[in-house]
Amino acid sequence: CGVFGIWGHEKAAELTYYGLHSMQHRGQEGAGVVVSDGQELKTHKGLGLVNDVFKQTRFNALSGERAIGHVRYSTQGGKTYENVQPLLFRSQTEDMALAHNGNIMNTDKLRGELENQGSILQTSSDTEVLAHLIKRGGMGINETSIADALNRITGAYAYLILTEEKMYAALDPSGIRPLSIGRLGASYVIASETCAFDQIGAVFEREVLPGELVTFSDGGITSIRFAMRGQRKMCAMEYVYLSRPDSDVNQVNIHASRKRMGIELAKESPADADIVIGVPDSSISAAIGYAEATGLPYEMGIIKNRYVGRTFIQPSQELREQGVKLKLAPVRGIVSGKRIIMIDDSIVRGTTCKRIVHMLKQAGAAEVHVRIASPSIQHPCYYGIDMSTREELIAANYSLDEIGELIGAESVAYLSEAGLEKAIVREKTIHQGICTACMTGHYPVTENRQQVMAHEV
Ligand code: 5GP
Ligand code: SF4
Ligand code: MG
Repeated sequence: CGVFGIWGHEKAAELTYYGLHSMQHRGQEGAGVVVSDGQELKTHKGLGLVNDVFKQTRFNALSGERAIGHVRYSTQGGKTYENVQPLLFRSQTEDMALAHNGNIMNTDKLRGELENQGSILQTSSDTEVLAHLIKRGGMGINETSIADALNRITGAYAYLILTEEKMYAALDPSGIRPLSIGRLGASYVIASETCAFDQIGAVFEREVLPGELVTFSDGGITSIRFAMRGQRKMCAMEYVYLSRPDSDVNQVNIHASRKRMGIELAKESPADADIVIGVPDSSISAAIGYAEATGLPYEMGIIKNRYVGRTFIQPSQELREQGVKLKLAPVRGIVSGKRIIMIDDSIVRGTTCKRIVHMLKQAGAAEVHVRIASPSIQHPCYYGIDMSTREELIAANYSLDEIGELIGAESVAYLSEAGLEKAIVREKTIHQGICTACMTGHYPVTENRQQVMAHEV
């Protein structure tokens, strides 16, 4: 998912739309905005792509100088209108809207507790649980009630909360999900990815820190630390796959880090070949790095139909397979008769690689050597990326040789953990660490150890 917020701009809702549009790749199931004019909160949201949701929107009906927005891709909670964010909670005293990127691990427990105490939950999304926790104390919506509520939840999250009078932004104590603050003239903006700042002409100011709660009000911006700040554990998959190449995550440019992954991969796993190709779009940067490091020509061996969305984000395997076929096509004149090094950013279920190798062979490729610009994914993610069971992860169930056979490639190799870390982490400080749990099984945050063990067997 992607979140966006803006404080103190007369075109708040419209700019939120542009910001969300630039983060469309983070979620394609639904989008929405909630705007505050200081008196009340107004919302517009819907299922589908940002453009479709806002097609008929008259932004003057969404007047107000503060807004938060969200693009959704569901890892928890159904694909229904009720779950499209921001979620808006009306009450006699004060309205509140929430937008969330990430995953709360102890939702079931908290949900049970809340229901036992008489709360009625409307959605299956874990964001609603936080809203109830904030309101439950009866002390209103403020820094203290939000900090108390955040201290009850475990997981990975970037939260934006909007009331009539304030906007809050919170990041989990390990800083697993990205969240940055920018300035647009006298206004503040906040977004999952910095590409949203570039989109609207805002400038990056700083990252929200792990365990930080930032408050935006007419008095400016203030901040508290609601939890002890540990080692930063930014999601490595943001670099490998999820973020846009022009974004900086934790002040490291995505394209540059992917290129370094390609360079490291070339050093670790060369192959005799004629050309290097990348799987569009997310593997192009790594392929360029690999080609540069080996001196082999970088070629456009596969093209992408830009009218098809992200295949991984399609929630069923059948849709996913159909999606790959519609989306990618080999360039016959380039690949025919060639020994090819094919770079992909990651293998999850193996769907993409298998289809592409098959496609390239059908187009006359002599050999296909698959090189993956990240370590093998063998463990589920509990932090908001849709890789939630081991059964679906090809590398959790098959050896490297078996994977090569399954996808029909002459050889397969993955980037090492050390190579990945080298490509992403520029200086080893408390602010620069990454989460690699899906590759290493070292989970930075656990609800309790037992639960993780149960998933791991
Ligand atoms: P697979 O086809 O092996 O199941 O998924 C890997 C492919 O899906 C890669 O080409 C990658 O670019 C793409 N992909 C889309 N969404 C995601 C995601 O959330 N995580 C990962 N690791 N890959 C994704
Ligand atoms: Fe990202 Fe993997 Fe960590 Fe999930 S487990 S947050 S996908 S690095
Ligand atoms: Mg891909």
